Amino acid sequence: MTAATEAPDGLAVEITGLAKSFGSLEVLKGIDLSVRRGDVVCVIGPSGSGKSTLLRCVNLLEEPSAGRIVVNGVELTHPDVDIDRARTGIGMVFQGFNLFSHLNVLNNLTVAQRKVLKRSPDEAQRIALRNLERVGLSEKVDAMPAQLSGGQQQRVAIARALSMEPSVMLFDEPTSALDPELVGDVLGVMRQLADEGMTMLVVTHEMQFAREVADRVLFVDGGLVVEEGPAEQVIGDPRHERTKSFLARVL
Ligand code: ADP
Ligand code: MG
Repeated sequence: MTAATEAPDGLAVEITGLAKSFGSLEVLKGIDLSVRRGDVVCVIGPSGSGKSTLLRCVNLLEEPSAGRIVVNGVELTHPDVDIDRARTGIGMVFQGFNLFSHLNVLNNLTVAQRKVLKRSPDEAQRIALRNLERVGLSEKVDAMPAQLSGGQQQRVAIARALSMEPSVMLFDEPTSALDPELVGDVLGVMRQLADEGMTMLVVTHEMQFAREVADRVLFVDGGLVVEEGPAEQVIGDPRHERTKSFLARVL
């Protein structure tokens, strides 16, 4: 057995029985979740329900206590996996923008390409400029992060993740720290990525975005998937009481 397994047709992410405890605190209690290639799956749920822990387990920023995670046919939970290598195929965008504050935009986009993927400076720059254009910020190539608005910083963070040419993008409440007038630009970039066929797993409180862009929505509460289905159904016509009361609070 090796970490490489047969990828079931079209599955980019397959999570089965994922559990995670911190000491005696059981945060994830057996999550099953799959994302097909090219799909957008949104995860919604109350604060503290384990959404960030779930995403952090998907690229092994947290080590699962139990369960199996397969991303593009590589079992990340296999003991022999080369996790640094596998991680380069998984882009992550956090609530805080996490740019390197001492590097300008271009260097933010090239440093991991050069150091981790061993791309030449020329190639890294070419890929960086292409992705900066994708998020509409070509003119900011020489700016320092502190000179950018929060929305621009988040778009740079997205471009930086895209520059690694990941097969899957994970977003953890990417607009939660933004002033309201800046949210739309970031959601617009995410919508465009979805239209281009990017596989995305998105934790969000933006119900309108989830409704319009997600192929499937999961409602997570207490470390379990309480309800899942098409966005129209889960957000528009939820079946479970807990989903209904959550939506009544956020909509
Ligand atoms: P959400 O993103 O849905 O708000 P989180 O996944 O951040 O939820 O957190 C779920 C629970 O796990 C919370 O009770 C949180 O305090 C706890 N938790 C998260 N990370 C850690 C950690 N590194 N150590 C201990 N507890 C943690
Ligand atoms: Mg969170």
